[in-house]
Amino acid sequence: MSELLVVGSVAFDTIHNHLGSHARVLGGSAVYASLAASKLAPVRLVGVVGKDFPREAVDMLRNAGIDTAGLEVANGETFHWEGRYSKDLTSRETIQTDLNVFADFEPKIPAAFRNSPYVMLGNIAPQLQLHVLDQMESPELVIADTMNLWIDTALDALKELLKRVDILVINEEEARQLTGYHHPLAVAEALRTMGPETVIVKRGEYGALLFLEEDIFCAPAYPLKNVADPTGAGDSFAGGFLGYLAENHHSDLRQAVICGSSTASFCVQDVGVGALVELSREHLDKRIHDFRELTCF
Ligand code: AMP
Repeated sequence: MSELLVVGSVAFDTIHNHLGSHARVLGGSAVYASLAASKLAPVRLVGVVGKDFPREAVDMLRNAGIDTAGLEVANGETFHWEGRYSKDLTSRETIQTDLNVFADFEPKIPAAFRNSPYVMLGNIAPQLQLHVLDQMESPELVIADTMNLWIDTALDALKELLKRVDILVINEEEARQLTGYHHPLAVAEALRTMGPETVIVKRGEYGALLFLEEDIFCAPAYPLKNVADPTGAGDSFAGGFLGYLAENHHSDLRQAVICGSSTASFCVQDVGVGALVELSREHLDKRIHDFRELTCF
């Protein structure tokens, strides 16, 4: 089992959905990804919070086995994101993004974290993701997530980043925006030409597609009766995916995709991080087993 470094946002999220409004719940790409990955491998978290970040939240992360030595506490308030979901939860609009301490964030990787073999660059500005890579010794595997904001505002840095990333995890709409192509094979080929050997296209409630050379793997999303909150599903997918690879020494990408789909399926069953915090290894393994039954023919 190898250590896994996770960098990304640590946030308070205000979420409006079919269940009502949920003010300032704990969230952020690094929190979702770390919690998911922590079920499988030792996680080292790097991010920034403000003075308002509660002690209990740090304790919760530590109790999950996450090393928070890289969680900087800066003067000011914690990053805050507010979004509203459509009734069927298939789309969301950002109402407000308050960068707060995130505005001046320059990730500093603690010396003891620099040898981490597995690195997950959660969704933050590509310039910052590059800055993280510059501080790492020689990671075995680097995976990155991104979003439309950076395609619109930091395309050059994003292209630079892609040259240094082994696996890109990106949602379908953003993959189409970045490449200008629509159909999956054309999108994947264009993305792989930009740098990453492996591309994973997230398709929300329709699952994920993995592209590696000539190999394509299609994983469904786990069918659920109710979804409480899709926030963080993509980050929990990436955390579960990379956690699996860190646990099993980069063995089987298909298994890792199923593991990511499993962690994501738990994430969406509660508002915020609740379901991930409660998730036991036993329940995760059971869901991976159920996935096998679901897709075997
Ligand atoms: P996901 O639903 O997987 O796309 O991720 C949702 C998380 O992304 C939320 O918890 C937000 O706090 C976080 N988030 C939203 N906008 C940004 C941004 N511009 N930079 C970093 N994190 C963000």
